[in-house]
Amino acid sequence: MLILVANLGSTSFKYCLFRMDESGGEVVAKGGYERVSDHAGVIDDALATLQRDGVIASPDEIAAVGFKTVLGKDLSGCVIADEAVIAALEGFAAVAPAHNPPYAAGIRQFAKALPNAKPVALFETAFYQWTGAAAANYAIPRAWRDIGIRRYGFHGASHKFIAERSAELCGREDVAQIARRLYLDGPAAVSGKPLRVVSCHLGGSSSVTGILNGVAIGTSMGFSPQSGLPQNNRVGDLDSGAIPYAMRTLGLSLDEAERQLTKESGLLGLSGISNDIRDIREAAAAGNSDARLAVDALVHSIRHWIGAFMLELGGLDALVFTAGIGENNAGLRTDVCANLEAFGIDLDPAKNATCRATEADISTPVSPVRILVIPANEELVLAREVFRKLS
Ligand code: AMP
Repeated sequence: MLILVANLGSTSFKYCLFRMDESGGEVVAKGGYERVSDHAGVIDDALATLQRDGVIASPDEIAAVGFKTVLGKDLSGCVIADEAVIAALEGFAAVAPAHNPPYAAGIRQFAKALPNAKPVALFETAFYQWTGAAAANYAIPRAWRDIGIRRYGFHGASHKFIAERSAELCGREDVAQIARRLYLDGPAAVSGKPLRVVSCHLGGSSSVTGILNGVAIGTSMGFSPQSGLPQNNRVGDLDSGAIPYAMRTLGLSLDEAERQLTKESGLLGLSGISNDIRDIREAAAAGNSDARLAVDALVHSIRHWIGAFMLELGGLDALVFTAGIGENNAGLRTDVCANLEAFGIDLDPAKNATCRATEADISTPVSPVRILVIPANEELVLAREVFRKLS
């Protein structure tokens, strides 16, 4: 089955064409466009390129298009991308302004360009649909909750992949099977020992998720991707009282406060030099105290969430690092795991130092908790879910 994964940004369009079957999948073509003003034009151009290059004889060969949608109003899951999905995306356009409008437009455009392909939306919030009400709700008035303000969670495709792969690596095929079929069958009971995992997706955008038997029990991200850990340029968790105080004291408009919290905060805001952890760690090592603060605040926040989920899970079987920082930054992994031997987290310094963007177990042979690095591949994750949905 040929599945096209469409990645739509406000001024970009990237695509990846997969050939999927029961045993897995492979990329047969990929491409992209930057500085896009007309998505319709580039989508048509991409399909023409695939034909011209002989990858497909006709666009009709593409069985499905997968969209990694962020969050929808009153809708989640892995679903056929119909008018209800478009309405859900438009309903929360103000919460995810960089993501929802291009996806709503892109789904409409693909319906015209590939009328025979099944459009499938995988919401980033899907993995959290079984999170308990106590973890999902904020203590806000009923009217706020009625307009959809609650903890949704993001990076769902990535964390779900970690739920599957960590179970496989821990020799728990029973849990892996539940995790793989989660969006088809829902959560299932596990006979025997529970499998308790904390997944750290650390990249330009970061989150930590607690996973019990393949199902998320909670996550660091909340209502919008503006929450949880300090992000590249986004603030992460912030006391709601700080916003009106800063607006009044600094004379900021709502738009300007929002801009500063989304563009000039996070690792960039704290370090004052860069939003990239590589530059920041280098500056910290050279004695820059603001850069040191940014690194320490990120590590502090990651450990805070790991601790919270370990308690809720009643212990831990695997701690997983994934995404750009999690896969590549051995120094950060060292900092996160420091002095946690009493909790069964025992990092092997040599294995950690040599592990870069490859799957590995970086714990010592005697560590009760397995410390795993699992590379993320969000396009493949999406293609898999679309394949499962349609098979
Ligand atoms: P992602 O959003 O998953 O693509 O991750 C992007 C972030 O990962 C960048 O901002 C970098 O801070 C970090 N990163 C990517 N590659 C490396 C690397 N080779 N070493 C250390 N950090 C990296």
